[in-house]
Amino acid sequence: MTKAMEATGSNPFDNGIAQLAKAAKVIDLKPAYFDLFTQPMELMEVSIPVHMDNGKLKIFTGYRAHFNTFMGPAKGGIRYHWNVSRDEVKALAFWMSWKCTVINIPYGGGKGGIIVNPKELSKGELERLSRAYIDKLVDFIGPDRDIPAPDVYTDGQIMAWMLDEFEKLHRGSYPAFITGKPLELGGSAGRGTSTAQGGYYCFETALRELGLANPTLAVQGFGNAGMFIAKICHDHGFKVVAVSDSKGGIHDSNGLNIPEVIAFKEKKGSVVGFGKAKKISNEELLELPVDVLFPCALENQITKANAAKVKAKLIVELANGPTTPEADEILHKKGTVVVPDILANSGGVYVSYLEWVQNRMGFYWTQDYVFDLLKKQINNSFKDIWAVKKEHKIDMRTAAYVYALQKMRKAAELRGY
Ligand code: NAD
Repeated sequence: MTKAMEATGSNPFDNGIAQLAKAAKVIDLKPAYFDLFTQPMELMEVSIPVHMDNGKLKIFTGYRAHFNTFMGPAKGGIRYHWNVSRDEVKALAFWMSWKCTVINIPYGGGKGGIIVNPKELSKGELERLSRAYIDKLVDFIGPDRDIPAPDVYTDGQIMAWMLDEFEKLHRGSYPAFITGKPLELGGSAGRGTSTAQGGYYCFETALRELGLANPTLAVQGFGNAGMFIAKICHDHGFKVVAVSDSKGGIHDSNGLNIPEVIAFKEKKGSVVGFGKAKKISNEELLELPVDVLFPCALENQITKANAAKVKAKLIVELANGPTTPEADEILHKKGTVVVPDILANSGGVYVSYLEWVQNRMGFYWTQDYVFDLLKKQINNSFKDIWAVKKEHKIDMRTAAYVYALQKMRKAAELRGY
């Protein structure tokens, strides 16, 4: 159980199944397909022995799951966290399969993780653990089978070690085996900010659809997703009135100077204490009188306990699973539009896909070109899903699942299932 799961009693895999079930009803999906799409195709658990710096051998547990690989190889990150569990890896791989289908890339869902607190390991131990994970999974992964990427507490350096290990085992060059690599090893321009960039395109389109002018914005979480979405919105002249991180939030109804907040956070380690902004809690941030809310931190933040108090008219989910199914019902009834995670944060996996494509061609694009492709792709998916929402008079999350389910069902059907 993650902390958020413990706090809310909500299991992300159960939430994912509940979201899919709503969409299955809309298109009258046969129960056998529902069963097919909600079981991992493969789920691997490995024990990973690592020689620690003190000379002792320590055994770690790792996982990797593949979901719905009807349209292509599995794709998804590797998480290093003490709360990693079979259920969490399953839930994250399940979501990846819908996300890849929503953004129209030829992948199924994948996810992996190791139960570890990486902050307690030396650099050498971290490298040995990362290489040993690849040694254990070598037959389960690869550019045409399953393509990993970074996730919580894994980064470009870890991808580089993993790539090196994979290439040693296969005696060749396989940059397309893993994405999120440093640029020097075949990473893509724009990958670092692609999740926020994609979220921004969704936000812009949603504003137009809703006719919201001069909106005020609040951003929960100030890491890769939250900091960059706040910065991009600020750079485009939008007023960001509140941001937060794990230590708490800050609010200024006149708007925050985001580049200054970023510089402050880099120096002090938190946004809390910035300038004359009022200190608020993360709970208060979610209930502020703003037009748009960007949850960019953890799962299960908007629940049946606070959904009625959320005042934003538009929620753009850059975090995975920030809204529970009960909260979705409450928000939909009061007319709040939620751009769901599987669309709003799909910019990251889309640019990972572009990295894989570039690696396979051996030809590399500029950031402008990459973002141009991203904008077209995410806007097309947004438009199609908006049309499904209108046709069936359903919320946007259910519409996104309907859209993806129809494609997934067709692919499975064509394969003879
Ligand atoms: P990150 O670790 O870079 O940042 C997380 C931020 O959330 C940090 O600022 C942290 O202080 C803050 N935080 C932690 N607990 C909090 C709390 N209780 N309340 C408010 N803030 C809190 O992680 P990230 O990469 O930005 O990912 C954030 C979310 O976005 C996750 O759900 C992740 O799965 C999702 N996501 C990220 C990407 C990506 O490319 N980075 C892609 C898709 C989805």
